[in-house]
Amino acid sequence: MSTAKGTRFERFKEVSVDGNVGNEMWKLPVNYYQVIIIGAGMAGIGAALRLYENGCKNIKILEAKKEAGGRIKTIPLQNGFIDIGAQWIHGTDNNCLYRIAKEHNLLSDEMSEEGCGLYIRDDGFVFDSALVDEVNFELGKIILECEKFIDESTFPISVGNFLEDKFETYIERSKSDVEMKKELFDWHIKFLLVDNSCSSLEYVSAKEWGRYNGGPEHVNLKNGYKSLVDVLISMLPNKVLKYSSPVSRICWSNNKNCVRLYCVNGEEYDCDHVIVTVSLGVLKDSPNFFQPNLPNKMRETIHSMGFYGIAKIFLIYDVKWWNANGFQLVWRRKRKLYGSKKWLRYITGFDLVYNQPNILLGWVGGEGVPAMERLTETDIGLHCTELLTRILNSTVPNPSKVIRTKWMCSPWVRGGYCHITPQCDKTNTGPLTLSEPVFVGDVPRILLAGEACNSKHFSTTHGAFESGQMQAQRVLDYLK
Ligand SMILES: Cc1cc2nc3c(=O)[nH]c(=O)nc-3n(C[C@H](O)[C@H](O)[C@H](O)COP(=O)(O)OP(=O)(O)OC[C@H]3O[C@@H](n4cnc5c(N)ncnc54)[C@H](O)[C@@H]3O)c2cc1C
Repeated sequence: MSTAKGTRFERFKEVSVDGNVGNEMWKLPVNYYQVIIIGAGMAGIGAALRLYENGCKNIKILEAKKEAGGRIKTIPLQNGFIDIGAQWIHGTDNNCLYRIAKEHNLLSDEMSEEGCGLYIRDDGFVFDSALVDEVNFELGKIILECEKFIDESTFPISVGNFLEDKFETYIERSKSDVEMKKELFDWHIKFLLVDNSCSSLEYVSAKEWGRYNGGPEHVNLKNGYKSLVDVLISMLPNKVLKYSSPVSRICWSNNKNCVRLYCVNGEEYDCDHVIVTVSLGVLKDSPNFFQPNLPNKMRETIHSMGFYGIAKIFLIYDVKWWNANGFQLVWRRKRKLYGSKKWLRYITGFDLVYNQPNILLGWVGGEGVPAMERLTETDIGLHCTELLTRILNSTVPNPSKVIRTKWMCSPWVRGGYCHITPQCDKTNTGPLTLSEPVFVGDVPRILLAGEACNSKHFSTTHGAFESGQMQAQRVLDYLK
């Protein structure tokens, strides 16, 4: 493999001869690396490993935060841990992260399931498990049916639209329990808002629904997801990573021989190739990040793809007070909530937590996420206790501690993960157009990576890792 095309000195000479490039002075010297990766989440780590292991060692990762992992964050708690970001490896077949985690003995034998336990309504009514299973089965069939549109030229407007229509048909056929079936349907919609990190299923493409092919398993890591990040990071020399270095601007153009990065702390870097792994949420939120802006198709993709929030609430108790395998919260359609408590309707339920017997985990989706993020942890604890006390019709203790996530207001994430929208169908955009490199001549200058750049495994950690590796491979192929 050759190193960079042209030496560092030659390229600097060319730039300094130009002096002024665009409106800015291209001053020397700055830190130069062959490849700079922005972000030390799974995509950034995947990219760095692929480059490093293939001999491309003049690389740097610039990470905004003080630690690696991005949307993976494990917090030590009560002689164990909780994962406030990603917690499971989804799928065991052909999953690169599953394989690495297995090799390093990081996996637990215990897999998790979602939506377990009692289905309880806001008035304390407990649903019969046969009815829960029947509605679950119907919804499962409908969701599976939605996968067939991938190869069709006509398709429903959205997943939300398709589910509503199909469920209506099922309800028309139903002879009993119609209202309860509708209430359970609403629970599934709420669950899907979390699963797809969207504000409404009207914003999820029915055409692309079948594209995602992640495995169904929820594999736990014995010591939390960060243990896998630590193993991967240990395969890189320390000097590759630079923390607390948020990049504020990426300057490139057709007549510059490198990309210049400006950090918030005043540092400047030059590189031949930049792999940008910031989340789609950050890209949407940073219109001046690239100067000049990205090509039209990429901007249209960033605009068209969806990125909304999900949240977790950990209720930590001194003593376990429940006997169930979890509580799933169902609401009567006519039941109204007011003021700061409206967000409660968006909690799907409280699940048990792997290896944490005294903790309940609440999942929040849709509009409940920003509303919850605005509240204090004390208020969240009080709201949840009031809700649990009412539906269980018994005294429920206040949690001794509440930990909730704030991914949506984090400036380095801005939400949960991406989804493919009906707007993507119209503009013919999606992960593939997002991951199309920006070339200057034949040089792949800017390459976006991250979960939103993976057409089959978007939204997942392994999808992020794979996309980083894919973009790094594109750089390696160019350098060969
Ligand atoms: C609550 C929650 C639960 C989830 N659960 C699962 C799960 O169980 N399983 C699963 O597979 N996936 C899960 N996911 C999704 C998964 O976490 C992500 O898909 C994946 O971690 C994304 O990795 P990434 O590298 O693409 O992005 P990120 O992890 O967001 O990494 C991007 C990095 O870029 C940094 N950055 C941002 N802006 C700048 C800047 N200007 N300069 C420098 N650095 C910057 C960020 O700090 C971050 O470290 C979950 C996500 C959330 C929010």
